[in-house]
Amino acid sequence: MPLVSLKKLLIKAQKEQHAVGSFNVLDVQSARAVIQAAEEEHSPVILAFGEGHERFIPMDLMFTIMRKLARKATVPVVILLDHGSFEANLRAMDLGASAVMYDGSALPFEMNLETTRKIVEKAHALGIDVEAELGHVSMEEGNPDKGETDMDEPIYTDPALVREFVEKTGVDALAISIGTVHGVCLKKPEIDFQRLKKIRDITDIPLVLHGGSGVSDDDFKRCIREGITKINYFSEVSLFVAENIKERLQKRMEKNYYQDIVKWSQELFKERVKDRIRLFGSSNKA
Ligand SMILES: [Zn+2]
Repeated sequence: MPLVSLKKLLIKAQKEQHAVGSFNVLDVQSARAVIQAAEEEHSPVILAFGEGHERFIPMDLMFTIMRKLARKATVPVVILLDHGSFEANLRAMDLGASAVMYDGSALPFEMNLETTRKIVEKAHALGIDVEAELGHVSMEEGNPDKGETDMDEPIYTDPALVREFVEKTGVDALAISIGTVHGVCLKKPEIDFQRLKKIRDITDIPLVLHGGSGVSDDDFKRCIREGITKINYFSEVSLFVAENIKERLQKRMEKNYYQDIVKWSQELFKERVKDRIRLFGSSNKA
């Protein structure tokens, strides 16, 4: 199936009141797992590659894999660059992304707006959709088991800035900061539903929730009812896969081989993504 437009996919999701999952992939197994999960659920899906994951695999190689898998998929697939710098956004456009996410959330408002606007101009000329972030969803890093966590300051999205940002940049989807956190610790976040409602009342643009991994199932359902149409979900899937593999390796009496891990990682990744797709309500919406 040809790649689909992020904007069209999310506008359809808005009308049908579900959210489309955006899952980060960083190897062939995870990419195949996400596509197979979407196919088995007859769901559209967003295959995302974060610039930060270039330390595991170069972007050009991963985009080649994602494009090939997406073309063969029987459900609508978006190939998205997730959290990209200006330079990475330009590279992703060259490499066949159908959507890019420019992350200027750490910049002052005016600079974020101006750089996002430039990205949108270039991307739209090529028929590529753009997601941007207003406010800042913080990132928690480190090893929580050793008490080594480190988190930057969140900046909640200011509803008063939303209209100007959306109109002047021309973005197709907007990531907002309403209490979720990226990363490893997966503490239950306090979602600011009042803020979500205020933002929803100001703009019709599809809204994106990042840092989905610690969010409870009930809060996800409420977020979707109140206007979130794209959910970024990765850290918890990653933890689920690795912890399950650890358990299997410890239980087995016979020798373990690399190919065992390759096979399990794909099966486990698929299982968890399918569960999330069902929760987000996009099953049978392909
Ligand atoms: Zn994110």
